[in-house]
Amino acid sequence: MKRTGSVAEVRQQVKEWKKQGLTVGLVPTMGYLHEGHKSLIDRAVKENDRVVVSIFVNPIQFAPNEDLESYPRDIEKDTELCTNAGASLIFNPTPEEMYPNGFSTNVVMNNLTKELCGKTRPTHFGGVCTVVSKLFNIVAPDRAYFGEKDAQQLAIIKRMVADLNFDIEIKGCPIVREADGLAKSSRNTYLSAEERQAALVLSKSIALGKKMVEDGERNAQTVIDAMKKCISAEPLAKIDYVSVVDALSITPIDEYKGYVLTAIAVYIGKTRLIDNFIVDIDTL
Ligand code: AMP
Repeated sequence: MKRTGSVAEVRQQVKEWKKQGLTVGLVPTMGYLHEGHKSLIDRAVKENDRVVVSIFVNPIQFAPNEDLESYPRDIEKDTELCTNAGASLIFNPTPEEMYPNGFSTNVVMNNLTKELCGKTRPTHFGGVCTVVSKLFNIVAPDRAYFGEKDAQQLAIIKRMVADLNFDIEIKGCPIVREADGLAKSSRNTYLSAEERQAALVLSKSIALGKKMVEDGERNAQTVIDAMKKCISAEPLAKIDYVSVVDALSITPIDEYKGYVLTAIAVYIGKTRLIDNFIVDIDTL
């Protein structure tokens, strides 16, 4: 497996594959790979002849007060995971390669970015849309793989691909969890032993909300209140949001109807973690 930080080299390699009639899958990541990322790579390997994994801690999706500097990195371990999973190429550019002097174009999404994480992180999704557009143009994959763990991001990418006519199929992959329920995340490494235990309140409240809806509850506020009560019982947890939105438009809804995303963001100490569940009420 090859690893390169060069845009030109990635383009050259993908061109050669395409000349041979091979299909290409892309898995965009910020590295420090875990089983969640691996599930995306595994699926991409199954569905494509060649798989590119991008590893780039994208500075423009972090606000100045966020964890850009401390974000965990381990390119050698990531390379091993990608090799074992059967990926063909890692693209790990420097910030200078992606944003050379004079860089001045951004992809801005007007809707879908105002609620949930977009409220707390108003510049975040602009950075995501810009970097993902660049990765799509650099790699030109047939398919790209994103986790449902970041459900708002997935909805935004699907919208962007439709709006900007990217000729790329977007594949959403289910959330991978630890044995005790905590959604896998590179940021889990920030947690102390005590915080790691407290973080279980996220998946616990998600399971509670999901059960309520499966048992027939349709009032969004009733579910939100129960989930908030569950989270608030944990002294180390501070709620950022508990929201129920239409899963495609990411607009708040009062009633569970159609395709619905219930999403939470919770601070455990200084670490902000997210989790969610999606239900299609029509097929419940
Ligand atoms: P990140 O490196 O955190 O930017 O994540 C890269 C991709 O992996 C995104 O599409 C995430 O949604 C996905 N991902 C991260 N954690 C998980 C998980 N626990 N289960 C499934 N996908 C995940």
